[in-house]
Amino acid sequence: MSSSKSCRVGFLWSPSLETFNFGSKHPIKVGRFQMVRDFLAENDFLSQPNVEILTPQPLSDELLRMTHTIEYLDAVRRISETGEGEIAIDTPGFLGIFENASITSGATVTGVRAVTDGIVDHFLSPTGGFHHAKFEWGGGFCIFNDVAAAVYELKSLGYQRILIADFDVHHGNGTQAYFYDDPEVMQISFHEDPEWMFPHDGFIEDIGEGAGCGYNINMHFPMDSCDDVYRYAFDELVPPLVDFFQPEFIIFLPGFDAHYRDRLAHLNLTTDIIRYITSYFHDAAHRFSQGRFGVLAGGGYTNESFKWGIGIVMSVLSGYNYEPPKQEPPFEDDEETWTAVKHNVEKVKRLVFPILGL
Ligand SMILES: [Zn+2]
Ligand SMILES: [Zn+2]
Repeated sequence: MSSSKSCRVGFLWSPSLETFNFGSKHPIKVGRFQMVRDFLAENDFLSQPNVEILTPQPLSDELLRMTHTIEYLDAVRRISETGEGEIAIDTPGFLGIFENASITSGATVTGVRAVTDGIVDHFLSPTGGFHHAKFEWGGGFCIFNDVAAAVYELKSLGYQRILIADFDVHHGNGTQAYFYDDPEVMQISFHEDPEWMFPHDGFIEDIGEGAGCGYNINMHFPMDSCDDVYRYAFDELVPPLVDFFQPEFIIFLPGFDAHYRDRLAHLNLTTDIIRYITSYFHDAAHRFSQGRFGVLAGGGYTNESFKWGIGIVMSVLSGYNYEPPKQEPPFEDDEETWTAVKHNVEKVKRLVFPILGL
């Protein structure tokens, strides 16, 4: 554990984040970001001398045009003005959706700029991680891809080795598509088996193409995987890849929706593994990236585990103590799970490591 009381942490927040409306039955509910803010305040994070609130700015027109087609941007604008139509079956439209998507995704770029300008060392956005949005169209609760926009912003500032560490339980299919042939962007995605889980993409064989071959790493887990197999796969795969890549900036999507209490997916992780992985990337950011580290914490659909995860991440970033309630996953990894995970780990190593000379 690095001592992080000296790290300056930006928390992206403003009431304007909450101006969305996917309807009362949608997993992303109004009140979510206020809840995060209240939770952090109640646990004394926001009164720490090294934590500050950063006000999110909307995505610039220039970044929007780099990240999405004109046709798509026009379509979102039309839905936004009328309140009619949908982005996808799981992503309904509403009045003002363009402005809301622009600010919730813009928060990520605001955080990136605060880090590169030296205002803070790390940032956490409670909205970020719209990793299913593609260049041509959105979906999977994602309108504009903030991960891609952040990468384009970093590239425009001259950064050449950007790590996207995507531990959301769903595969980052949108982000993968943007940088599939780009060796300046390494994407490591750990997710539930795409055979069963949305977005049914992110197979181990998908390792990138052209100059980017070997820089796109997918590792997936069978349903019911717990901390032990996850930690095993992490230790086998991630440190060698990060040591090789030596990222200049780390963008991290923690897997709050891989927690055993989350209702949208079927992995059984606890906050112990969330702390373990966050600490690893925080340390790696200090080792390789002069501390440049951004956390996009938008995934997570059960309030308790979502808040516990946010508390753990803020604790690692700020050095301020937080303990979630005792974790009680329903069971442990069985023989079948271990066999499947070991098989997957070996497959990733066999396909990716030789290309990178590991
Ligand atoms: Zn730090
Ligand atoms: Zn997810």
